[in-house]
Amino acid sequence: MPHEIQVKTILNKKKKRDSWFLDDYTLNLYSSCSFNCLYCYIRGSKYGLNLEDSLSVKVNAIELLDKQLALRAKKGHFGYIVMSSATDPYLQIEKKYELTREALKIIAKHKFPLHLITKSDLITRDVDLLHEVNKNAILPADLAKKFNKGLIVSFSFSTLDDKVGKIFEPGATKPSVRFETLSTILKEGFHAGVSLMPLIPFISDTKEHLDILFSSFKKIKANYVMPSTITLFGNEAADSKTLMLRAIRKHYPELETKYLNYFKNGSEMPAYYQNAFYKKMQELSKEYGLPHKIITAK
Ligand code: SF4
Repeated sequence: MPHEIQVKTILNKKKKRDSWFLDDYTLNLYSSCSFNCLYCYIRGSKYGLNLEDSLSVKVNAIELLDKQLALRAKKGHFGYIVMSSATDPYLQIEKKYELTREALKIIAKHKFPLHLITKSDLITRDVDLLHEVNKNAILPADLAKKFNKGLIVSFSFSTLDDKVGKIFEPGATKPSVRFETLSTILKEGFHAGVSLMPLIPFISDTKEHLDILFSSFKKIKANYVMPSTITLFGNEAADSKTLMLRAIRKHYPELETKYLNYFKNGSEMPAYYQNAFYKKMQELSKEYGLPHKIITAK
C-alpha cells in the first residue's frame, strides 16, 4: 500500500530550462516509482531495493497545484511543466488516485503547456484532457516564435524487446505495448516522440537493435528520438550500479567483464565510447529523418 502524505509545495520552478526537456517547471504527484527500472537515477538508500515499497501519494497535490498555478498565471509566468522528473505520472496506483487526471484539468484551466514523460499505456485514458491542455496552453514568450505545441508527450524506452524490458524495467508497461500507445497518441495528432534514455551498452545499442528502434519509430512517424547512454551510481545494495551489474551477471554473463571494466570506478561509459555513441546517433537521426531533440536549432 502506498503512503499518503501531505506536502508543502508541489510545483518546482527550474532556474534554467533544459534544452532537451524544456522544463520550466517540474511536477511530481507521486514519490518513488513502482516501475522499478534498475538503471533509474532516483535509486539509492532513500527509496530502498524495491522502489514500490517507498511509494507515496501526495494527497493534497491538486489543491496546491491550483493555488500555485493561479499565482504564476496571474504574473504571466507561463512555461512548460514537465510531468514527471522523478516518478512516472501513470503508475499503476494512478488508476485509483487519479492525481494525474485531476492535475491535467488544473493545467488546462490555467493554460500552462505540458511535457508528459511516461512508460505507461494508461495515458490513453486521458486523451480528452490532453486535447484540452494542447488547445488552451499559452507558450513561454521566448519559445512561442519557434515552437507552437501546447502538449508534448515523450515515451521512454531503453529497448523495444519485451524480454530485455522485463529484466531492466520489471514493473513498467511492456515496450511493445508502450510502442502501440505512442502510435495511438501520434494518431491523435499530438506532438510526441521518444526518450531513448538510457540505451543499454552492448544490449540495446547494437547496430541491429538500433536499426529496429529507429525504423520502428520512423514507421509510426514519431516527431523526435532523443537518445542517451547510461549513467550508473553507487555501490550500495539499492544503487543503480549494483543492481545493473547484478542483472548483467545473471542474464548476460558474457558482458560482465566489460561492464566491470567500465563501471568499477566510475559512473559513465568512457569518453571514446560516448563520442562514438553520439556520432552514431547523429547519423541515425539523419538517416531516418528523426530529429534528436524536441526543438532543433535551425
Ligand atoms: S519509470 Fe522513470 S522514474 Fe520510474 S523507475 Fe523507471 S526510470 Fe525511474
